[in-house]
Amino acid sequence: MIKAYAVKKAKGLLEPFEYESKPLSKYDIELNISHCGVCYSDVHLIDNDWHISSYPLVPGHEIIGIITAKAELVKNFEMGMRVGIGWQGSSCMNCEWCNQGEENLCSQSTATCIGHFGGYAKKIIADARFAFPIPETLTSLEAAPLLCGGATVFSPFLEYKVSPTAHVGIIGIGGLGHLALQFAKAWGCEVTAISSTLGKKTEAEKFGAHHFLCTTDKKELALHKNSFDFLLSTTHGSLNVEECVDLLKSKGKLCIVGAPSEKIELLNRSLINGRKTICGSNIASRPGIQKMLKFAALHKIKPQVEEFPLTEVNTAIEKLRSNKIRYRAVLKIAPD
Ligand SMILES: [Zn+2]
Ligand SMILES: [Zn+2]
Repeated sequence: MIKAYAVKKAKGLLEPFEYESKPLSKYDIELNISHCGVCYSDVHLIDNDWHISSYPLVPGHEIIGIITAKAELVKNFEMGMRVGIGWQGSSCMNCEWCNQGEENLCSQSTATCIGHFGGYAKKIIADARFAFPIPETLTSLEAAPLLCGGATVFSPFLEYKVSPTAHVGIIGIGGLGHLALQFAKAWGCEVTAISSTLGKKTEAEKFGAHHFLCTTDKKELALHKNSFDFLLSTTHGSLNVEECVDLLKSKGKLCIVGAPSEKIELLNRSLINGRKTICGSNIASRPGIQKMLKFAALHKIKPQVEEFPLTEVNTAIEKLRSNKIRYRAVLKIAPD
């Protein structure tokens, strides 16, 4: 039996839950989980915001653990190795996207904690093809949030070929944004943190921002029109897309990775004048996650973490809901 925490109904509290372990399929590994990040997507799943949750639901998709069993066809991992598991659990491995190393775009893609019990647990069985060795210089506590949060904000720099000479704006300084600032700085860019909370200025600068733009200061906003090559929106709060597009230079891109539930509204001419682009990005491909981990280790990119024991998972979720986590919550489940 695998000990976990599950919600039994939408918006419920997490409760201790046990489920029967299954035999390993041919590419599977079993992990003893040491840490699991708490991502806002877990809250969306708990609440059934996306209408794809089934209960009992064990959230958790920023998992670090030690391999305790492996199937015959798992060649690249040894017993006792430390690996990470992110949002994606599997893909078809045979479509145009899988064949070109963009498995995150596969229509058959499955998620680690949808229709499968996730990482708020002592153990997990996962497809080793979607497991990633963790560089030695990253602690498990620091590495956990990189598996989803880090991958999500790093991938757009790769996919949209952001130039190191670009002026990049990171919108929203929270769990994703504080990592995005660090990646953008290490990428070589001129980095502006964009937030409605002036109180985050000092911390944003600590994470690598060269400048801070407070969106409640309409005069400052007007002065920054046409000044960004790339804007990465990480906010879960509402996003004024029209205002963002105005901030872009000609040919600039607004990339959305946070998932506010509202519709995008803007005037057509805002995109036409200046040939601007609005785009999105989800998690990262397998090569993208490997590159992200290597880049994070090399440039010492680390999430600022609040640690909770698994038994206090409801406290962590509640703090996340009320926007009080600075900046990423991680459940400590076992010693490293
Ligand atoms: Zn996530
Ligand atoms: Zn596929």
